[in-house]
Amino acid sequence: MESVTTASWKCLKKSEPEKKVLSGLPLNELIDELKSLPAPLPPFRAKQIFKWISRGITSFEEMTDLDKSLRENLDSRFSVRSSEVSARLEDPDGTVKLQISLLDESKIEAVLLSDAEDRKTACISTQAGCPVGCVFCKTGSLGFSRNLNSAEIVEQFLHLKALSTGTNISNIVIMGMGEPLLNLAELRRALAVLSDAEGLGISRRRVTVSTSGVISGIRDLTDNGPHIRLACSLTSARQDLRNRLMPIGETNPLPLLKKALTAYQQKSGQRITLEAVLLGGVNTTPADAAAMIDFARSLDAVINLIPWNPVEGMIFEGKPLREPSRAEAETFASLLEKGGLKVTRRYRKGRGVAGACGQLGVVP
Ligand code: SF4
Repeated sequence: MESVTTASWKCLKKSEPEKKVLSGLPLNELIDELKSLPAPLPPFRAKQIFKWISRGITSFEEMTDLDKSLRENLDSRFSVRSSEVSARLEDPDGTVKLQISLLDESKIEAVLLSDAEDRKTACISTQAGCPVGCVFCKTGSLGFSRNLNSAEIVEQFLHLKALSTGTNISNIVIMGMGEPLLNLAELRRALAVLSDAEGLGISRRRVTVSTSGVISGIRDLTDNGPHIRLACSLTSARQDLRNRLMPIGETNPLPLLKKALTAYQQKSGQRITLEAVLLGGVNTTPADAAAMIDFARSLDAVINLIPWNPVEGMIFEGKPLREPSRAEAETFASLLEKGGLKVTRRYRKGRGVAGACGQLGVVP
């Protein structure tokens, strides 16, 4: 693990809790905020500041097109950022995981993934810990601390962007720590910042939000947007097994989940991704494949199979979890394909830094 000096980060200090943080404010909120100052600032000033923050500056001092007295005035009232990188871990496969410290000492993680064409994807967290408690997930085993605010979500992207030399980050996956649809209001504000053409301009088509199947959140997205790409972690389409692996299944039953996903698809016009974490000897039988085919049949969906990424000490019903053998995973994949489903296999990237799916929260 490489420690990172934080001396250059001008984030909000613990001694300045009264300062409002600007990094998480969508442009319309920033305009309103600056308009309400005793000496109101016009919208074009808010746009300048918004652009500077999106470019990754960490202090008002660096906003060189604002005069000095304005910079000092802003600095006395606001902070640009609220978090700092406490450690950086690099996997030889190119994956980089950042551990990020928040004002209340919470630690979260964000991951930068690169593919063979050097396209960069930021994997972002929405909660410190997670209340959902999927049995195969390290984050779930940590319990839940709190929701992240918009600034803490946006800043993960900005920290990762600072690492990304050469190629810009083109995609965002909200698949880090936490269940995003249990923190939808702050996620929505963060996505408004990240997708604004005045700033980072990440197209919503390049943002994927992954849920464990929170039906109320899917309905909310359907009705109120944004219509980003939606992934749903199914893992099992057998209700009883799903409930045991993902306790959220008990209150979010499969028939209603399917109805909600169908409505989202109709409204957004987007293909849905159904994710399945493959657990050796647990959810890879022909009956599991048949149930998944039945669930996915009427959706325009792609099934993303994720062989479980090992985390030490994870137990399911008295037995240690294990990753599936290659043959087991391939047999399951071909059963789905024979049943007419489109199937992809997720890269096993980031394992060396415990930055792969289901491993966040682990210090290797
Ligand atoms: S898989 Fe996602 S929803 Fe489930 S415990 Fe882990 S972080 Fe939470």
